[in-house]
Amino acid sequence: MLIDISKVVKSINKEVSEEVSIELTSFESRLGNFPILQKSPVVLTITNQENKTLFIRGAVDVTLSIPCGRCLEEVPTQICFDIDKKLDINDSVLVDDEMEENDYLIGFELDVDKLVYAEILVNWPMKVLCKEDCEGICKVCGMNLNKGDCGCQRTELDPRMAAIQDIFSKFKEV
Ligand SMILES: [Zn+2]
Ligand SMILES: [Zn+2]
Repeated sequence: MLIDISKVVKSINKEVSEEVSIELTSFESRLGNFPILQKSPVVLTITNQENKTLFIRGAVDVTLSIPCGRCLEEVPTQICFDIDKKLDINDSVLVDDEMEENDYLIGFELDVDKLVYAEILVNWPMKVLCKEDCEGICKVCGMNLNKGDCGCQRTELDPRMAAIQDIFSKFKEV
């Protein structure tokens, strides 16, 4: 959603709060495409401080569907963070020192979805697991081991042990 912030940028010490809906329905990145399962509107507060600094603040709460890092089952993952942007106002032009490309601003139009997108990327969870003790998938047949055991022999043997096992299996063949 685009909001026009020109009035705040141009009025000294003005502050506005606005409820903005997030239009993103999925989060697409190099990591994949993750559907957004839940999102609440963001209350953005935009503050002009002495015609020098513009603050953009708000709290974001979204739930994305992210595959478990071990078994690949989709896990609803809540990502909550605060937007806390501080921009310099230079002759009514906005400058973001932290981000080289602030594509969320086009003149005085704030693209809330692009801003939220950039912040989700920064707040991306390090590790997503369906449960702490997720068993993962079988390296041999690909079965989800949380749903039972497939019976494959998965023990990765010490090479020396493997050699002994070879000898035993040779005996068996004889
Ligand atoms: Zn899992
Ligand atoms: Zn298996």
